[in-house]
Amino acid sequence: MTLSNTERKIIESAIRDIPDFPKEGIVFKDITTLLSDKEAYGVLMNHLYQRYKEYNLDFIAGIDARGFIFGAALAQMLGCGFVPVRKKGKLPYTTISEKYALEYGVDEVEVHIDAFSSVENPRVLLIDDLIATGGTANAAANLVKQAGGECVEACFILGLSFLDGIKKLETKTDVYTLIEMD
Ligand code: AMP
Repeated sequence: MTLSNTERKIIESAIRDIPDFPKEGIVFKDITTLLSDKEAYGVLMNHLYQRYKEYNLDFIAGIDARGFIFGAALAQMLGCGFVPVRKKGKLPYTTISEKYALEYGVDEVEVHIDAFSSVENPRVLLIDDLIATGGTANAAANLVKQAGGECVEACFILGLSFLDGIKKLETKTDVYTLIEMD
């Protein structure tokens, strides 16, 4: 199930563009205005629920930090568990980690080693607000696998398709972006 044109318009118009944040040349997609708009947030969460209710998911893995907001809310709606994929150094128990390249330098994400261990052959949905180069999501998908999960799909509210991140991630898992932007 994909978005209707009306749903797309409501969600898209609730997202705010912030030019030159956090640095010059980047247009930051600010989803705080979507979260504070009860109609748009409701349309988004209802769409995600309708899409994923038949997927038999065991866990939603949300990417630090905006993926936590949608991921945790959706996990409750679907009646499945939530697992945070965090930036390095934040998780208190034993972790597995994965480095990925940034424009300048590297970053690292982690999950708890036993994050999915309560379920046999766990079916996991990965979620974040936006996919750009795909570096973060690729590393997160690798972690889901290493921790014993099957990443059945990766879901993003926004996809910047000019950056090739979606194509790269599609070699690893199914990818669903509600709204793609050129
Ligand atoms: P990437 O690893 O390049 O796909 O970047 C994805 C991560 O960076 C996600 O967690 C996004 O929330 C964040 N991000 C990257 N570019 C933007 C942008 N233009 N606006 C908002 N968030 C962004």
